[in-house]
Amino acid sequence: MTVRLLVLSAVLPPNQNDNSSCAIVQSEQEKDLVVVDCTKDALDEFNHPRLRRTLILEALNKQQQQQQLLSDGETNDWRLEFRRVVHFTASSSSSSTDTTAAAALCCQQVYGRVHSDGLIQFLATAWNRWCDLGEAGRDPIGTMSNRQTTTTSSSTTANTVAAAIPPPLIPACTPLLRCHTMPQRAGNHVIGQASFYATDTCTPIFDTLVPELISDAALVQAAIETVVATSNTSGNNKTDESNVLYLLPHHPGHHAAYDCMGGYCYLNHAAALASHLTSTSVTNNAAALQKQERKVAAILDVDYHVGNGTAAIFHDNDNVLVISIHCDPDCDYPFHVGFADDGNASTLHLPLPPGTTWDDAYRSALQQGLDAIVSFAQCENHNLVAVIVSLGLDTYDQDPCAIRRAGFALTAPDYLAMGELMATTLSRNIERQPKPAIVFVQEGGYRMDVIGTAAANVVTSFARHWS
Ligand SMILES: [Zn+2]
Repeated sequence: MTVRLLVLSAVLPPNQNDNSSCAIVQSEQEKDLVVVDCTKDALDEFNHPRLRRTLILEALNKQQQQQQLLSDGETNDWRLEFRRVVHFTASSSSSSTDTTAAAALCCQQVYGRVHSDGLIQFLATAWNRWCDLGEAGRDPIGTMSNRQTTTTSSSTTANTVAAAIPPPLIPACTPLLRCHTMPQRAGNHVIGQASFYATDTCTPIFDTLVPELISDAALVQAAIETVVATSNTSGNNKTDESNVLYLLPHHPGHHAAYDCMGGYCYLNHAAALASHLTSTSVTNNAAALQKQERKVAAILDVDYHVGNGTAAIFHDNDNVLVISIHCDPDCDYPFHVGFADDGNASTLHLPLPPGTTWDDAYRSALQQGLDAIVSFAQCENHNLVAVIVSLGLDTYDQDPCAIRRAGFALTAPDYLAMGELMATTLSRNIERQPKPAIVFVQEGGYRMDVIGTAAANVVTSFARHWS
């Protein structure tokens, strides 16, 4: 079988890229350019989402070039392809209101199954409303930000006009859910709403967020369409080709729950994918439909931090099994969830202590998680349509985002082993045809010196061993 590792990357429309310095990755197959804007990136000391994506694309591109030089002694035939997903909704002539409406519409369409309308409307409108407050109205909120007020150039006129960009909006307080017995709601003020919807102070509202969210919505939509198209094809004529998808959104998603954002996450891509792919309205595998099987999906979250948003979204939904392998919440973010005993039929939490290495505990926890997916797939009326891997790479040794003295200690070869163990366990034990769709979704990872290698190791090792 030929495995096609399809890398989908969210890219902003050209007019959003300004004149910033960009990293350019060339796809050999498509003679296509993937342009990633690396500027305006540092949302805080650790979070560099654009640089992370660029480094991952560069590492994968190197793998592709090496692969073409090698005579193939691999266990199966696999190849890498790149697609950029560009969404042109926000044209340079659009007014800010048009962009806001477009953002709400796109996000509602893709994320409306797993997020509240209130959160989506807030994300679509918050930046404009924050700017409308003016400098006096914003004071003193935003002064906590590491992201300095900058200038940018407008591409809408021939004469470049420098414009000051306000500081990001960072929530100033939090809801009082436990200690306050009166009903609470978001209210109407943008600062109050930021405090209502955010679970922490590390998920700011900033100038390019809206086009990035539109672009991420387009990315998830493209993944859904690719998976559905592939499953329809494999149901009709037995192609000897299998897709493994790797999604590189602007922002991670696994901490975002139905009505809240946090931990660098605004909207939950893995959850949106699982919800769409298990929907009864999505065509998939006529034979399974005839047997009245239930479409189910599994999300395997290997980020260092618990996938609390994903687990919360599916906590009462037994169509989606959520498994998270993460640092013990007694030792690291988000502290209040992710304990071993707070799972249920839809959630399996596998917390591990700080300092965990591949050999001492990670491998066995991953095996346990994969075995749970196999059991889930083997349930009598289950039609497992997708396995979605929330691929956080902050499990790497000395990742700076871990709270001091915590952190795991995985190294580059461990990520090869991780991809191999995932592929061999799932392909050997899930015998039904067609196989479930495999979709990797990029989550966290903050060691920029190794992030490309770690990512490429997992997904290419998976592609080598998936059959
Ligand atoms: Zn993380």
